[in-house]
Amino acid sequence: MQDIIAEHLDELIGSSWAFIIYAGFFYILSRFVDPPESKASSSSLKAVHNNKVFFHKDFKLESTYFFFNLFITDILGKLLTIFMTLYFLVPILPHQLFAEFIQSQNFAVQLLIGLLIADAAFFFPHWFAHRFLWPYHSIHHSAKELRWLTALRLHPVDHLSFVIGGTIALYIFGFEGEAIVQAIFIHGAYNLFVHANINLGFPRPLCYILGSPNYHRWHHASDKEAIDKNFATMFSLFDVIFCSYYYPRDKLPKTYGLYDHSKNYPKNFTGQILYPFQRIKKK
Ligand SMILES: [Zn+2]
Ligand SMILES: [Zn+2]
Repeated sequence: MQDIIAEHLDELIGSSWAFIIYAGFFYILSRFVDPPESKASSSSLKAVHNNKVFFHKDFKLESTYFFFNLFITDILGKLLTIFMTLYFLVPILPHQLFAEFIQSQNFAVQLLIGLLIADAAFFFPHWFAHRFLWPYHSIHHSAKELRWLTALRLHPVDHLSFVIGGTIALYIFGFEGEAIVQAIFIHGAYNLFVHANINLGFPRPLCYILGSPNYHRWHHASDKEAIDKNFATMFSLFDVIFCSYYYPRDKLPKTYGLYDHSKNYPKNFTGQILYPFQRIKKK
């Protein structure tokens, strides 16, 4: 076990740094698109929220989440995944389900199937979190504006379930090593993209297949008709199939954030981390 951890630790920390460089690049890029527009944009690339300030209102809070989840939760999640796979999954399921079929495909096809599975493994826990783990997931929805950093504004318990779920699902289906690492990385990078402060949506029929920033924006809208909609990150197709698709392409949400308990909601990192546990204790 120690050997496996030592072998993977460099790779795990390396992928976190690569993620930061990617996020930083797009965070800066989003500052150079045209100023905000309140309508859904179709031509030139515009922002949605003020993009001329680098240190926006939630910058400190969201960058704390970003680094905490990337260097602590993510690495813990990946180590837990290795542990759970070796000691629980392999003894129960010694053979991966479709290993022969998946590993005989070329890498691009493997990656595409891997991304579909990774997004399905995100879609269902995400739906579950809205129904049953809302005190944890509400932290992600407490953002009043969406930016790259908002993608990792996640309670560690919430983030752990996504990290472990995605990797284990890929393993069960028959993926190995490089394909798992690449699929999880690309899916995570796409998650940053859909949270971007960029007024960008896809035309029909692409919008029914792939998620975009404006599509995910409706997931964060506090407009009544948008509640509990658009659970997918990458493939909006899952929302179409499971009847949770909501994307009026010609407009943007009026407001974002929590719809049920925004008044007493803690505003700092420690308060938000403790918030779900305090709610459970109160109950
Ligand atoms: Zn959500
Ligand atoms: Zn989101």
